[in-house]
Amino acid sequence: MTLDALAFGAHADDAELSCGGTLIKLAGMGYKTGVIALTCGEMGTRGSAEIRAREFAQAAEVMGLAVHKMLDIPDGRVEVTWENKLKIISEIRAHKPRIIFAPHWIDRHPDHENASQLVRASVYLAGLKRIETAGDAFRPVRLVFCQGRVEFAPSFVIDITDAQAQKMNAIQAYASQFHRPDRTGSRPESGETLIGRPEFLELIEARDRRYGAQIGAKYGEAFLVREALRVDDPVAFFGPEYLWTIP
Ligand SMILES: [Zn+2]
Repeated sequence: MTLDALAFGAHADDAELSCGGTLIKLAGMGYKTGVIALTCGEMGTRGSAEIRAREFAQAAEVMGLAVHKMLDIPDGRVEVTWENKLKIISEIRAHKPRIIFAPHWIDRHPDHENASQLVRASVYLAGLKRIETAGDAFRPVRLVFCQGRVEFAPSFVIDITDAQAQKMNAIQAYASQFHRPDRTGSRPESGETLIGRPEFLELIEARDRRYGAQIGAKYGEAFLVREALRVDDPVAFFGPEYLWTIP
């Protein structure tokens, strides 16, 4: 299926956390959106691969995705190999997205860093006719990096005010990953994860608030592009309405 925007994550919940509000907003505008996780999340501290697949499907439904898929790259071993690039190239060619979202290239989790490198290379390589996979050569218009644990100065912020509540619903579809008051063993040595802490949802909301404030909106998601953005009419782009929204 042809998509307008496709987000790649190393693990099932990565896209929801980093660009979930934007994907929900785009789906609401009538665009076709998708999420592809490179792994099945079998190394996760909590839950099994089967449970994560079910939660992934539930989150996809909440986000109104047209496509959601898990690839078979081993979790915890997302490596920058030609074989893995071919898998991603095949997906890009199958869905022909205009925009691709990928994790930022600096992250604490090596899977996230390698996923970033793999997707960046594959976006370019997918356009080379001589690389043979199922599907014709196709290169997306723009690769956009999402925010993970490491902050960056954004190239732009997308207003997700109307989508933020739904984003939190999509994240909470990952019930096996979250803190539950009835679950014991929350000390770090017994498998506590960042996402499993009770305050995790507050951290996500606070980050969305922080970036929203930068553009005069209640909630926002921050993005980074490596190539310059073209603006044809700066007077219109930075016009009165734009200025009015800056706090
Ligand atoms: Zn992840």
